[in-house]
Amino acid sequence: MAQEIGADWVARMADEVIAEAEKRAPGKPIVCASGISASGPIHLGNLREVLTPHFVADEIRRRGIACEHLISFDNYDRFRRVPNGIDPSWAEHIGKPLSAVPAPPGSAHASWAEHFEAELTGALVELGVVYRAISQTEMYTSGAYRELILKAMRERATIDGVLAKYRTKGKPKLAQNADAEEIAAAEGSGAASEEDGAAGSDYYPYKPYCGGCGRDLTTITAYDDESTSMTYVCECGFTETVLLSEFNRGKLVWKVDWPMRWAYEGVTFEPSGVDHSSPGSSFVVGGELARAVFGTEPPIGPMYAFVGISGMAKMSSSKGGVPTPADALEIMGPAQVRWLYARRRPNQSFKIAFDGEINRMYDEWDTLTRKIADGTASQADVDAHRRASSTAELTLAETPRPLPYRTLASVVDITGGEEVQTLRILSDLDPSNPITSLEQVQPRLAHAQRWVNTQLTAEQRTHVRTEPDRELFATLDATQRESLHLLLDGLDKDWSLDGLTTLVYGVPKLQLGLPMDTKPTPELKVAQREFFVLLYRMLVSHDTGPRLPTLLLAVGADRIRQLLTV
Ligand SMILES: [Zn+2]
Repeated sequence: MAQEIGADWVARMADEVIAEAEKRAPGKPIVCASGISASGPIHLGNLREVLTPHFVADEIRRRGIACEHLISFDNYDRFRRVPNGIDPSWAEHIGKPLSAVPAPPGSAHASWAEHFEAELTGALVELGVVYRAISQTEMYTSGAYRELILKAMRERATIDGVLAKYRTKGKPKLAQNADAEEIAAAEGSGAASEEDGAAGSDYYPYKPYCGGCGRDLTTITAYDDESTSMTYVCECGFTETVLLSEFNRGKLVWKVDWPMRWAYEGVTFEPSGVDHSSPGSSFVVGGELARAVFGTEPPIGPMYAFVGISGMAKMSSSKGGVPTPADALEIMGPAQVRWLYARRRPNQSFKIAFDGEINRMYDEWDTLTRKIADGTASQADVDAHRRASSTAELTLAETPRPLPYRTLASVVDITGGEEVQTLRILSDLDPSNPITSLEQVQPRLAHAQRWVNTQLTAEQRTHVRTEPDRELFATLDATQRESLHLLLDGLDKDWSLDGLTTLVYGVPKLQLGLPMDTKPTPELKVAQREFFVLLYRMLVSHDTGPRLPTLLLAVGADRIRQLLTV
């Protein structure tokens, strides 16, 4: 069923992909691809590798055209290094396929790769991403790539010639504890690396995993194109001679592996990280090898920019400083996560807020939702919202009564999430249309609660005083005391968010002899600011805090009286 065609970057890319696929393989389902390495936590930057083709494939399917999104799990790649925080004894597994390395201690999963893939695939279900998973371990060990591997071996001189153009002396220098991103950046920096195979007459684009120790510390010493007889030796001392036409325990070096898979799967669209744009990068070299060796055109696809993070108070130590999609889904809904990626072109970098900016992000989302409802949103904004909240297959659940995230966060900050109190406060916000069940504000309430619990420091939490601050009260002048009286006098007039908003802004107006509907003047703003600071200090012993009307509602009239009457 064809739907409305958008006017955003996704729609334009889908146009290009459809036209390109029509040239390459008319009538066949279109293939969009992502590659994911489970060498460690798969973070929110890697999610762009998945969501960029997801949005394009989804747009194509919305138009009623068959299109498949492949996610290749590169779990047959070698384990390169033991990340910080993991038992150093894991070093014995360096050189084995990621799918053959034991999972980190305490994991319920069978292997290193499975452990990190599982968290991502769980998040992808929640995000509504429809895809076909390809395990490279399964592909290689089943012999699926046999013909293309034999072809790469026959064409090894051609491959060596292409790589030679990009080889530089030595490999990029990296600190011992370089993280995955640094390694990826160094690999993309231009030099064809050692892992592409040694140069010269004995160059082979294939690495066996050793039959003795399971690692790839192997060197091919003889290969016969006719018989496919291959002899290799390993640093561990093991050696054997096998027929490559029957051997399934090895893989093509990365820069050859990637174009081989473009050919195998018929990929028309695959994005790549900005670090792949330089000369000698995998994408550039892969493109040359795709044409020269595998007789196929490389996919079209944008370079995508980095995704930054703001905030993240507590996660840094346990997760190496890089939050994952599952971490983001703890504190925001799937539609909001999708929206962050859909509304920026892939070449624009953006930040995901784990700090107070998350409140603003939700405000923007709510404003956009209202604009769409009343028909005043721009077409590009409408497109981004639609891609965030639905796919060709499903509509993502939204919170029925989307109260501002900052309001929910303030309320659970004060109540600690206690349900009866939380419902009481939320139902007071708007007495003309009260919240009658916490279900009406789920899952946003649960996300705000987890944000408060995991991202706010003790210093940032709100602690309502249990006793009046008599010392502070003793220092107040007559005007300040009068302002507290005026507030208490007005408390019961309109116990609602609107009523209390009018009251807290109105008290300084009354004191200045101004009518309640006075527009703000510099003098009035100063008086209001001073009044607000006084209230915060009396109620929470700080100069700032949650928005005052929300704070007053949450504290409750009785306790306000107790704390402001000394
Ligand atoms: Zn070995």
